[in-house]
Amino acid sequence: MNEFLKEYISLKENFVKYHENEASVLALYEFADRLKERTEKEAIEVLVDVYQQLYMMESAYKLYESIYDKTDRKQIKKFLGLKDLNESHGDRFATPRPLNKKERLKRQERKKLLPKFRYHPDPLETGSFIEGEAKVCPCCGNESSVYYVKSPYAVDDVDYLCPVCISNGEAAKKFDAEFVQDAEWNFEEDKEKNEELFYRTPGYLSWQGEYWLSCCNDYCAYLGSVGTNELNEMGIAEEVFEEYNKRNEFADVEKYLVKDGHICGYLFRCLHCKKYHLYVDAD
Ligand SMILES: [Zn+2]
Ligand SMILES: [Zn+2]
Repeated sequence: MNEFLKEYISLKENFVKYHENEASVLALYEFADRLKERTEKEAIEVLVDVYQQLYMMESAYKLYESIYDKTDRKQIKKFLGLKDLNESHGDRFATPRPLNKKERLKRQERKKLLPKFRYHPDPLETGSFIEGEAKVCPCCGNESSVYYVKSPYAVDDVDYLCPVCISNGEAAKKFDAEFVQDAEWNFEEDKEKNEELFYRTPGYLSWQGEYWLSCCNDYCAYLGSVGTNELNEMGIAEEVFEEYNKRNEFADVEKYLVKDGHICGYLFRCLHCKKYHLYVDAD
């Protein structure tokens, strides 16, 4: 067995053992970075498998196209399989690359400069804000390297809103926009809370649009998308599913729930009693 394959097998074992947690995913990405520098055929073959493991089907297909043996039936079969996966999936469903230590520290610094959102405490972590090349905010006209990943609910498409214009309500006013599609309503109507949620809180990415849960006469804080693995890791799976199952929505959801999968969980936490609450939707 060659050295590349040996390393891949051990990384893959961790990837499975730790349910695709951040460390095991990052290790695969960093391995892919190293393989990209190599020219040996064995390294490139392993890189194809690494791409597949990370759901980067377009990358896997394109790379395999350049190396496979067109006289070998087994390899032709593999090539055709990858071709299908490239067409149906491409790289769109790739496992996101976790930040390394240095990037994480930099992000912590950047977070301190962001406005605070009561109902969405960490929009960079949940993926509602992204960091990238600076873009001009269509509301204030300033450049920002952190911006809203979605367009709010408005007549026009409004892209690259900066966090400040969301938090101070200027974006909602200027574009007659709302950021949250819908919310659970089990408390006395409170105009201030509604305005804060719908006009001044970044929404979140989901299959069917936001449905913001509430508890203790207030909206909850949104913590991010989760699957059963994440809930188990946090040690809260049992309590969360017990409560969820009383809602009579999706049945046996603990068997199918995968973070950002076809049936995905959205985790909330009450700002007052600190209980966790789960919402689930599907594609
Ligand atoms: Zn702005
Ligand atoms: Zn509560």
